[in-house]
Amino acid sequence: MKGVILDARKEPRSGYQLSEFERTTGKAVTGSSVWRHPKMKVESVPEPGIGPDEVLIKVKYCGVCGSDVHFYETDKDGYMLYPGLTKFPTITGHEFAGEVVDVGNNVKDVKRGTYVTVEEMIWCGHCVPCRNGFPNHCTNLEEIGFTINGAFANYIAAGAKYCWPVDAILECYSDFEQAMQAAAWCEPTSVAYNAMFPRAGGFAPGAYVVVFGAGPIGLACIALAQAAGASKILAFEVSDVRRKLAEKMGAQYVFNPLDFLSAQAGNKNGHSVRSTILEVTKGEGADMLIEAAGVMSHTIPEMEASLAINGKIVIIGRAAAKVPMYLENLQVRRSQVFGSQGHSGDAIFPSVIRLMASGRIDMTKAVTSVRNLEETPDAVANLSKNRADGKIMIKVS
Ligand SMILES: [Zn+2]
Ligand SMILES: [Zn+2]
Repeated sequence: MKGVILDARKEPRSGYQLSEFERTTGKAVTGSSVWRHPKMKVESVPEPGIGPDEVLIKVKYCGVCGSDVHFYETDKDGYMLYPGLTKFPTITGHEFAGEVVDVGNNVKDVKRGTYVTVEEMIWCGHCVPCRNGFPNHCTNLEEIGFTINGAFANYIAAGAKYCWPVDAILECYSDFEQAMQAAAWCEPTSVAYNAMFPRAGGFAPGAYVVVFGAGPIGLACIALAQAAGASKILAFEVSDVRRKLAEKMGAQYVFNPLDFLSAQAGNKNGHSVRSTILEVTKGEGADMLIEAAGVMSHTIPEMEASLAINGKIVIIGRAAAKVPMYLENLQVRRSQVFGSQGHSGDAIFPSVIRLMASGRIDMTKAVTSVRNLEETPDAVANLSKNRADGKIMIKVS
């Protein structure tokens, strides 16, 4: 079969000491400090075998994630931009759906012929965080497409306990291809859902919600905010294409933050991001502000200055950087900040599947191109160049 393999040279930056864990597992905890000169190529690879608790999935669609782009992109010293847990060489791709074509001997709950989507976080179930109910913080975590082989390939083996049937989504869409694209959206949509609801505790219907960054995760946040009854949704996004998608997904107030940077230099009547949020919310501020842009040094100062009383800042974007905060706000505005990672547990996948199956959210509206498996490296390179797509779906079969 064919697979999209990412490989890189392991050359820890001077001053980065590989830990005992990193030496024994071969994983890098801070990928951006370890992996150099990454290369993404389509190669012929053996079909995966399955263990007794695993199923073999024939991949139908796999979405291109911002992380896939960050694997490919490097800084001036040639280090990969992606800052998280990684091990290479690995087949990438983790936002997927497909058909179960074989099941291991111990598998009871997943049947051959079932269409499924799969969690990307491979939590062990027996470490202390897992036993305490925090699978997204598993100390033995593997991640599909990051540390173990992913779904930019014809087949993938996955533990049955990470699979979720998507028949309900298939029933909702009359078009099978579109339904399977929606199913491939479950993973990133679950990341957004986890951050907004289980982690941050959600908001009451009628709330004002602001989303920074309208990449796929930001777009999922907008769709979820609308489904959950936000009365005003604001989005800030630099790309023209993505601003249009933000509107399509349900944001009524969409802005290009770069307009305000020039505003500081005296254009746009002295408006700023924060003053715009305060204007749209009639001075009350936003009840939930979501960071899905990964540029906290720009977004945090705007978010903390436009918080409603009891407002929430939710961090989903990734940036390995320190950003100062004016903590007085957390007291005076009775406000809070939540960091979020992952999508497992808390009925997240089944809830997202229900939302898609009910037609309350339709993430397929944000698919801007469909490419085949061979075109994956090219699609990633283009996305890196222009960041102008919503979701690129790789049609594997
Ligand atoms: Zn992803
Ligand atoms: Zn665990």
